[in-house]
Amino acid sequence: MRECQTCKNCFADTVATCPNDGMPTVHTIPGDGVLEGKYHLEHRLGQGGMGVVYKARHAYLKTLHAIKIILPDLVGNDPQLVTRFRQEALAAAAIRHQNVVGVSDYGVINGNVPFLVMEYVEGESLHDLLTREGRLSPENALDLIAAICAGVGAAHHQGIVHRDLKPLNIMICSDKPSMAQAVKILDFGLAKIKSGELLGSFIQAQTTGLMGSPYYMAPEQWADEDPDSRADIYSLGVMLFQMLAGDVPFKGSSIPAIMKKHISDPPPTFASLGVALAPEIERAVFHTLEKSPDHRTASVELLVDELRHAIYGSPSVATTAPTGALPVSTVRVHTRPPGAKVLWIMSRSVRAAWMVRCFLKASRAAIIFCVSATTASTTGSIILYATASRWMSSPNFDTRSPI
Ligand code: ATP
Ligand code: MG
Repeated sequence: MRECQTCKNCFADTVATCPNDGMPTVHTIPGDGVLEGKYHLEHRLGQGGMGVVYKARHAYLKTLHAIKIILPDLVGNDPQLVTRFRQEALAAAAIRHQNVVGVSDYGVINGNVPFLVMEYVEGESLHDLLTREGRLSPENALDLIAAICAGVGAAHHQGIVHRDLKPLNIMICSDKPSMAQAVKILDFGLAKIKSGELLGSFIQAQTTGLMGSPYYMAPEQWADEDPDSRADIYSLGVMLFQMLAGDVPFKGSSIPAIMKKHISDPPPTFASLGVALAPEIERAVFHTLEKSPDHRTASVELLVDELRHAIYGSPSVATTAPTGALPVSTVRVHTRPPGAKVLWIMSRSVRAAWMVRCFLKASRAAIIFCVSATTASTTGSIILYATASRWMSSPNFDTRSPI
């Protein structure tokens, strides 16, 4: 296959000059640019540490895909490595979540060049978004990190750690109505291959320079320890810090200098960077950046909860005097005094329900009940969200009566 160096389009071996811009084409990967007779490579999207990514179209279904072709240098002549790549691809393909880029196929060119077929994402990377926006408001940062955490959480529940979470591995689709649907995480499982665990030490030495960005690597990843899900929490914490402060917490002129800061320096306070944020928010972010995994925020769910509570105040589980039953299971809403104006919203996901918190203002209700249908029917619990100021100013609510 040949490619135009200027427009990055792909052509058959017979095309020496690009028909689009008249530039000479160069030979790149072996073959005619059609993988396994069905994936037509159309355009080079970019190159990373372990492969080249192409936009491709399925010959019969006409669906668009992104195909990552692993660099032949990485695989060398070891046929066992091809098998191990396949195992990792299988693990990545097992994660089915709207916030994780789906892996739909795997193949091998000429017996020794593996490739992965992924869902194609039209949009920009989080890196591009942060370069453009600089800092994000806490509310927008929460929206983004919650969507990223949803995808990472799905993988963690299957025992899969990403190991290379960074803004370049997060895509934001341009055609989705909400951030919760727009976020797509790339490269699950691949960092394990790249880390050298699946490659020999010789190959590892060759690829070390291409490993995950040092700005996002947890302290334990710098040591020879096998990272667990808490390493991902740390990387998410660095991204969160960057969203809120406009820059990563640990910088340096060399990789060892950055490593030293990750291992022994406390993150700079937001105030020292000229960023005014509530101390609760800073505490939630710093919790994710604890040096010891044992002291760090324990799960992605907790990360989102802590940040949400820091921004919006803590939710509480409440039982009050009866005013009526919600039409789910046996859950009843109680208020004291009875007759308080209550707005309740039912949703499949607590997060989606939480999103409608903004209706609080419009409805002038004292309390907003956000009830997840699944939570309510299985546990009978109600999650109550109300901001303190709203609570106090409510004419329908006796603030001296605890609920
Ligand atoms: P790394 O090897 O550390 O992951 P990287 O993320 O820069 O480095 P790749 O993962 O190889 O490099 O990706 C190369 C380019 O292809 C990036 O610009 C990325 O945005 C794009 N890309 C990767 N996967 C997809 C996809 N599923 N849909 C659309 N573009 C993609
Ligand atoms: Mg990548």
